[in-house]
Amino acid sequence: EEEIRRSKALEENDIEALRKVSRQEYLKKREQKKLEEIRDDIEDEQYLFDGVKLTYAEYRELRYKKQIYELAKKHFEDVDDISEYRMPEAYDQEGGVNQEKRFAAALQRYRDPNSVDKMNPFAEQEAWEEHQIGKATLKFGSKNKKQISDDYEYVFEDQIEFIKATVMDGDKFDHDLPSELLDNSQEKSALQKLQDERKTLPIYPYREELLQAVHDHQVLVIVGETGSGKTTQIPQYLHEAGYTKRGKVGCTQPRRVAAMSVAARVSQEMGVKLGHEVGYSIRFEDCTSEKTVLKYMTDGMLLREFLGEPDLASYSVVMVDEAHERTLSTDILFGLVKDIARFRSDLKLLISSATLDAEKFSDYFDKAPIFKIPGRRYPVDIHYTKAPEADYLDAAIVTVLQIHVTQSPGDILVFFTGQEEIEAAEEILKHRTRGLGTKIAELIICPIYANLPTELQAKIFEPTPEGARKVVLATNIAETSLTIDGIKYVIDPGFCKMKSYNPRTGMESLLITPISKASANQRAGRSGRTGPGNCFRLYTAYNYFHDLEENTVPEIQRTNLANVVLTLKSLGIHDLLNFDFMDPPPSEALLKALELLYALNALNNLGELTKAGRRMAEFPLDPMLSKMIVASDKYKCSEEIISIAAMLSVGNSIFYRPKDKQVHADNARMNFHTGNVGDHIALLKVYSSWKETNYSTQWCYENYIQVRSMKRARDIRDQLEGLLERVEIELMSNPNDLEAIKKAITSGFFHHSARLQKNGSYRTVKNPQTVHIHPSSGLAQVLPRWVVYHELVLTTKEYMRQVTELKPEWLVEIAPHYYQLKD
Ligand code: ADP
Ligand code: MG
Repeated sequence: EEEIRRSKALEENDIEALRKVSRQEYLKKREQKKLEEIRDDIEDEQYLFDGVKLTYAEYRELRYKKQIYELAKKHFEDVDDISEYRMPEAYDQEGGVNQEKRFAAALQRYRDPNSVDKMNPFAEQEAWEEHQIGKATLKFGSKNKKQISDDYEYVFEDQIEFIKATVMDGDKFDHDLPSELLDNSQEKSALQKLQDERKTLPIYPYREELLQAVHDHQVLVIVGETGSGKTTQIPQYLHEAGYTKRGKVGCTQPRRVAAMSVAARVSQEMGVKLGHEVGYSIRFEDCTSEKTVLKYMTDGMLLREFLGEPDLASYSVVMVDEAHERTLSTDILFGLVKDIARFRSDLKLLISSATLDAEKFSDYFDKAPIFKIPGRRYPVDIHYTKAPEADYLDAAIVTVLQIHVTQSPGDILVFFTGQEEIEAAEEILKHRTRGLGTKIAELIICPIYANLPTELQAKIFEPTPEGARKVVLATNIAETSLTIDGIKYVIDPGFCKMKSYNPRTGMESLLITPISKASANQRAGRSGRTGPGNCFRLYTAYNYFHDLEENTVPEIQRTNLANVVLTLKSLGIHDLLNFDFMDPPPSEALLKALELLYALNALNNLGELTKAGRRMAEFPLDPMLSKMIVASDKYKCSEEIISIAAMLSVGNSIFYRPKDKQVHADNARMNFHTGNVGDHIALLKVYSSWKETNYSTQWCYENYIQVRSMKRARDIRDQLEGLLERVEIELMSNPNDLEAIKKAITSGFFHHSARLQKNGSYRTVKNPQTVHIHPSSGLAQVLPRWVVYHELVLTTKEYMRQVTELKPEWLVEIAPHYYQLKD
């Protein structure tokens, strides 16, 4: 029967039907195999459940339900007793919340249009220069032996005192390279040069050994320093050894930028066009073709590929790279690839990591062998500050300038937590070096973060010209995902942005959090790649030894799991409590996710996927956004809703406010809010107006809108439109019925409703908590009685971002299982 269905589907080229057939076949096979295994184990055992004899399937189902029931009972009995979470409040010492608050205040200051720093940069600059000239003449006569620090004081006044505390040992390695590589006498083509460069990487001498190990073992854990060549070389070696003849080599990255950048590099090395033999795939952007054999992608994308191809039949090798990052998607991938490897003996699995604690990976993958690539790292001197720094952004900038003026040549890498900080730092650095002319050497500032346009990303890899110094301002991406050559100095403020989730309230926030010791050491190591390095930690040695955690908590233990649960359910994995997690998520978080999906009507009360749930799973979006789209069918406004979803997915980079035109920019922005329609409708208006001008760039300029973000929204929208067709939702437009649009939004986001309080703050309806409307919202001055919001962000306060007014009756109408009228 299956065969007939399959050939019929093939004949009619019905992809959807084909997918269903292969998915069912796969699930059946898996179930069989599992049953066989269990049967082997427990030949004659009886399945007794509360004294009743049962078949194994019945027993399992009942046991699962009972577990859920027990969990639910526990959940409601002792909600106050959740101790597995270390919430941000826990950091109440130095380096914790205080520093966070101070940082928030500092950032506010930089952004504040009235801050002295911004009001008249030139006046300040002039006064400062005068002061410096005075000081310099004073200093000139004094005899100070410490020439170097004199130079510094000559140019910059403020300075931070560091204590050199420890040395991170380098690795012993052979410095000699084959002589033909050092011979630069002949003219060589660019491609030839790249080929030579490949041979200088630490991994190269182990090429044959590695290929042999891949040949001999199905699963291999690979460990090597950042920069040894794991990501760029291993897939090429596999290609050269013929693995791509019977399928693709897929390599996952936790970050979009890394997937794109590495794919670009490898296509260069292979001398092919990006998107042909070598390609990448990230959410909303597929740069691959029929020809693609080496595919770099985010871990989240591979996870989605399971939906269409549950046994990953088109792959011969899957390399889960940067495994040490332990992102949510990577952790789920572990469970899935481990599962399919048991059925596909021809599939090779490589798990690669930059940290040395690979035993955990090996143990998880049934004692897979570990292949170590000996590193090539020079010693790194670690410097700590004498006292804690109140404002790390400022301290980082001072340290950059201090290094620039006093230290020998070599590039600088600074770790910041995100785009806003990097932009602020870039601006301040430019401001402070402006007008110094030849007093200091040229300082080339290169930012790198996820939303940076691709053209600008390439800049960090360009060699630094003689006499100049490069300073790379990076997010965590430079910790292990991207290798930047020539870095001699690392500045580590000790923070990163981290998701945290409170399963009790269901609130997720992105917080600036102290990094772990493991991260700190990775960061330090980035300075010792091409010669002895220096790492300046903007915290004290005491902080390092006593306040930092050993390792970063895996994302799966501090995030909202709704999305993952929906994906797993649609992969046919029902028994989530027994899923083979490397580190299981807290059961409360799992329960909360099930609850949300149930509330969104994606799961029925047996925990099975509903039709709406199946449709939702097709969208690579958060379940609430997917639900909003699915609900737009009912309210006949799918056109409008996918525009809103696309605009929301772009993030908060639609509007910009140039320093000198803030009033104009704010006026332009408020135009879209006429009638206090709320932020969602305003976003819709922006999109529709842009579309009406035939996607004009000029229009964007005039309205202080980032054209790059709009283009991205357009791409996303196109894809969502394609997905609508797939889930059989008709494209319908209903632009004037704002109530219908708002109801569709509420259908997805009724969880996120809040009610105005007497003092102008809001109280969330479920899990009461005090929140505020973000100042950037069009409703910030309006303060409607009831609102629904897109997300919460915690900066100086808990803010709701993207807010729309709501009528409380809608809640009862849309989610009667969730809200009831009080009489
Ligand atoms: P690993 O994955 O082991 O950390 P990679 O394969 O990413 O190492 O990097 C190996 C080398 O390739 C690095 O030393 C770096 O010089 C070079 N490289 C990687 N990506 C790029 C790029 N986009 N541009 C220039 N060089 C790159
Ligand atoms: Mg890598």
